[in-house]
Amino acid sequence: MLGLMMDSPLLISSIMKHAERLYGDSEIVSITHDHALHRYNYRQAFARCRQLANAMAELGIQQGDVIGTLAWNDFRHFELYYASSCSGAVCHTINPRLFAEQLEYIINHAEDQWLFSDPMFVPLLEKLLPSIPNIKGFVILSDEAHMPETSLPNVYCYETLLAKQSDKFDWPELDERTASVICYTSGTTGNPKGVVYNHRSTILHAYALIMPDALCLSQRDSLLSVVPMFHVNAWGTPYAAPITGAKLVLPGPHMANGESLTNLMNSEKVTISAGVPTIWQALLQYLRDSGRTLDTVKRLIVGGAACPLSIMEEFEEHHNVYVHAAWGMTEMSPLGSVNTMKEDPASLPVEVFSKQRLKAGRAVFGVEMKIVDDDNRELPWDGEAFGSLKVRGPWVCSEYLKHDKPALDNNGWFDTGDIATITHDGYMQITDRSKDVIKSGGEWISSIDLENAAIGHPKVAQAAVIGVPDPKWTERPLLLVVRQAGEELSKEEILGWLEGKVASWWIPEDAVFVDELPMTATGKVSKKDLRQQFKEYSY
Ligand code: ADP
Repeated sequence: MLGLMMDSPLLISSIMKHAERLYGDSEIVSITHDHALHRYNYRQAFARCRQLANAMAELGIQQGDVIGTLAWNDFRHFELYYASSCSGAVCHTINPRLFAEQLEYIINHAEDQWLFSDPMFVPLLEKLLPSIPNIKGFVILSDEAHMPETSLPNVYCYETLLAKQSDKFDWPELDERTASVICYTSGTTGNPKGVVYNHRSTILHAYALIMPDALCLSQRDSLLSVVPMFHVNAWGTPYAAPITGAKLVLPGPHMANGESLTNLMNSEKVTISAGVPTIWQALLQYLRDSGRTLDTVKRLIVGGAACPLSIMEEFEEHHNVYVHAAWGMTEMSPLGSVNTMKEDPASLPVEVFSKQRLKAGRAVFGVEMKIVDDDNRELPWDGEAFGSLKVRGPWVCSEYLKHDKPALDNNGWFDTGDIATITHDGYMQITDRSKDVIKSGGEWISSIDLENAAIGHPKVAQAAVIGVPDPKWTERPLLLVVRQAGEELSKEEILGWLEGKVASWWIPEDAVFVDELPMTATGKVSKKDLRQQFKEYSY
């Protein structure tokens, strides 16, 4: 017997209708190249989305067509998300930090037809032009007064296009499995792979994101979306905010600028934000140097890489901001788990609390997890056994765009490429990325644990651990350290600091001081580049 309930498709356009009706006055505040601070509300935003949908139709963009965006987090990028997906086109968000060959590859591979670009990426597009022959034209996200000079052909000004359009547009009733956004993984090995989200996965993911033990988002919040809209939909925040009526604050190109973030957070009364550890490190550095603090922020979600305990503690002790670890990936839209404590942290001994909060947390409803050994046998949830982390759920990628290899195993599970432990009550902890694992004398050493311990040293700004070949142990860990500006720190001091914090046989034989660590296009330390840099290294 089938149930007798309505079969309403889960469509992104329903977010617009809901927010416009119920939270029309909630604001979207952005920094753009042509506005020091642009401010409007959901009612105005979604009226402009309808104008944009009309403009896209006039350009000849049809259902199923892919448009590319090269843009920072701001109101125009927000409008592009909604107008393209909801009219049945697909929004390919392009990470402008990718190498030129990767940009060329993904624009051609996704079959982008039009590119919508911030003015600052115009020189990049001019260089790419000969290798992206299928692009029909370019729309520059600007008003007429700030349009750049360009040799690009078929160029339009975004605001001029919108100005002549009606704000009446009937959003089509699409199949909920219609593609909404394409985001490519950063392709640390081989070409980037295209992950194609759909309306259904996006809505379900947004529901999970706003739940109390995840973002716990409501109309009383002001959410600063500091993770880029060009990578994994800014973790779904542009959808979650209007669903709840939360104010949305978008920092434009200033997402790693501590001063701008502090100004925005305080002036827009931001209560919550989410981002990768490097962003929060930059913010802390600014707060330390300037002596300022955050007036209204209550919680930060830190994901994308392991968050050092020192970051969590400094936010809490100096700025009264609680930091949650979270885990996810491009292929998971991205949310997989959030660390919200079962117990009241105040009731736990400090050492227990500190250990517990470093874990990536428990799976949100909708994501199933398991850990398996090399023979794909499931491992126990005892907090000790570690193995490959596999997931499944309605917002997990089932296959990559035009890719010949299957993304799932024979039983329909997606291998995340992470190595993890899970405690009996479901707290998952990433010990490593499988390709970064260090195997010494047949045993695994967690580079993440070592890095966390090293970063806890007050004179350490950044730390990374990679495996280097060793004739006796096959591999040994090597610690690379960026010192805090102006600090003296010796090898003996930092290696001595690790004693008692990790197993003694994990402690590296050597620490090398470097000026900076190479970063990936998504703001994480690039271990691949470090391994390359230190491939000739020997003790
Ligand atoms: P890429 O960096 O290739 O674009 P993603 O942005 O999708 O990939 O990053 C996903 C990966 O980031 C995860 O598979 C995991 O290795 C790492 N990651 C994400 N969150 C955490 C976390 N809380 N702790 C440790 N690693 C994390």
